[in-house]
Amino acid sequence: MAFEGLSTRLQNVFGKLKGRGKVSEDDVNDAMREVRLALLEADVNFKVVKDFIAKVKERATGLEVMKSFTPAMVIIDIVNKELTELMGGTQEKLIKANKPPTVILMAGLQGAGKTTLTGKLAKLLQSQNHKPLLVAGDIYRPAAIKQLQVLGGQISVPVFTLGDEVSPVEIAKQGVQLAKDQGNDYVIIDTAGRLQIDAELMQEIKDIHSAVNPDEVLLVVDAMTGQEAVNVAKSFHEQLALTGVVLTKLDGDTRGGAALSVKAVTGCPIKFASTGEKIDQLEAFHPDRMASRILG
Ligand code: GDP
Repeated sequence: MAFEGLSTRLQNVFGKLKGRGKVSEDDVNDAMREVRLALLEADVNFKVVKDFIAKVKERATGLEVMKSFTPAMVIIDIVNKELTELMGGTQEKLIKANKPPTVILMAGLQGAGKTTLTGKLAKLLQSQNHKPLLVAGDIYRPAAIKQLQVLGGQISVPVFTLGDEVSPVEIAKQGVQLAKDQGNDYVIIDTAGRLQIDAELMQEIKDIHSAVNPDEVLLVVDAMTGQEAVNVAKSFHEQLALTGVVLTKLDGDTRGGAALSVKAVTGCPIKFASTGEKIDQLEAFHPDRMASRILG
């Protein structure tokens, strides 16, 4: 399960603190040193860790905490609140266009889970009585179009494709026009990813962006890739105005680094978490619930 190591370590640190009646400044410092190591080991960005510890310390070493009857609980509460803030504070919903259709552009590296997420999001929107149209804009990965058609077929959501010989920019443009003509209120455009970021990939997605002017640009990030996921998010954000991040593969044994760093590093909210390969394994990302889950 995701965050298992981090969760166990933090619970140990706070278990020790809870065992003491009184808590001294030294106890707090010791605990914070251990929290710092636990976060670093969970692959959280070092600068994020540094700022986080500074914030918690600032609030935890005040007189009020020491005077409390349950100082350990007060400190845990502070850590919980700061972890929640770190992951964005509140749940951020999808942006909706003033005038339909709302256009959602998927971005991310190959294998991150874009195509799968396109299907999942369509299912979610459909369950809220929306009429999504999927657009097959990944013309390079063999079978990506077919994969999207199969997903669409499973949930009876239409998939627009022009095969793999028309440019993705043209496919995206025509897809959005079709949605307007047919009355689809959401368009989700799947795009190509590479194994790593390259200039060609960036240019193509930027061209699609200029052509269809999306309301939502979601970066799909594989949480299992840890620190690297954060670097990827940073690069995409510098090139493309992202509006949200979706973390995938949170069902795996990810150490948590991506979930805990990506918002702080890019400023982009994490909107959803994908927790499996099945089409209904998608959840709205709630920073407060995730923090509580980590702290146990
Ligand atoms: P794309 O190249 O970005 O379009 O990636 P795909 O959507 O094809 O996903 C790559 C692989 O990851 C596929 O085998 C998916 O079934 C799998 N996958 C996607 N999301 C998740 C997830 O949340 N959890 C797990 N365990 N696997 C996932």
